[in-house]
Amino acid sequence: MKLTIGKHAGFCFGVRRAVQTAFDAATDQASCVTLGPLIHNPQEVERLERAGVRVVATLDEVQPGQTVIIRSHGVTPEVYAQCEARGLRYIDATCPHVAHIHQLVKAYSAQGEAVIIVGEADHPEVVGIAGWAHGPVFILPDQEAAKSAQLPQKAMVVAQTTIRRDRFEEVLAILRKRVAELTVRMTICAATSQRQQEAEALSREADVIVVVGGKNSSNTQKLYETCKARCARTILVETPEDVPAGAFSDADRVAITAGASTPQWLLQRVQERIENGVSLDGSKD
Ligand code: SF4
Repeated sequence: MKLTIGKHAGFCFGVRRAVQTAFDAATDQASCVTLGPLIHNPQEVERLERAGVRVVATLDEVQPGQTVIIRSHGVTPEVYAQCEARGLRYIDATCPHVAHIHQLVKAYSAQGEAVIIVGEADHPEVVGIAGWAHGPVFILPDQEAAKSAQLPQKAMVVAQTTIRRDRFEEVLAILRKRVAELTVRMTICAATSQRQQEAEALSREADVIVVVGGKNSSNTQKLYETCKARCARTILVETPEDVPAGAFSDADRVAITAGASTPQWLLQRVQERIENGVSLDGSKD
């Protein structure tokens, strides 16, 4: 049996970096907290807690002497200022792609020009980006919002990094008609589409494809549907224990992909489970 794990399966670069930063900090510091959860994977959050990294919702919950880890979504400049004003040590794990958007927004709006963000107003990344603007900010989740908003004649538009490309293009088409002087910065991150495209390719080739991720996670669900459309034997598992025994005994090619919140160690345990299952079954190796 040939078993392939997708290169883009699981954590993107920014989340992997933030999680590693948190584990490293927990080794060096007395106690660390993350401002908001680093990821939406209960097993990984538990592992972080065991290493001494707790989650807090606001800086008010931070005890003296604790180190604050800023997650990959980034924050507003006020959060850095508040950390400094309170004498809190912090480690900035903002994804470099997101930090780049902060700098674009800051520079463009330095004279009070307007910024448009295509994304969800309550998403922490969007809240953070909006905070770097020196002028008005318009947050447009979709084309309906772009049609009805009172827009300026001059603005720069950026995208939430995880927004779908087609949604951004739809909004952009409306903005091009409604904003006379529009500066466009395409800031969608490639991580999500790379994972999706790779899953498509793997599921075309595989006899069985295993999707690892939370059953309630929307990006895992989307990966599952993508794979299921191309490979009838697509299996969704949340933990290694969910891997069905004997499901791979007659498979020559098995592939594994994973949603954005699935850590590498969980993928490896799923891989081991599949390999052990096959050998226990006495079938193909
Ligand atoms: S910008 Fe891309 S790499 Fe960075 S955290 Fe977001 S999805 Fe991950």
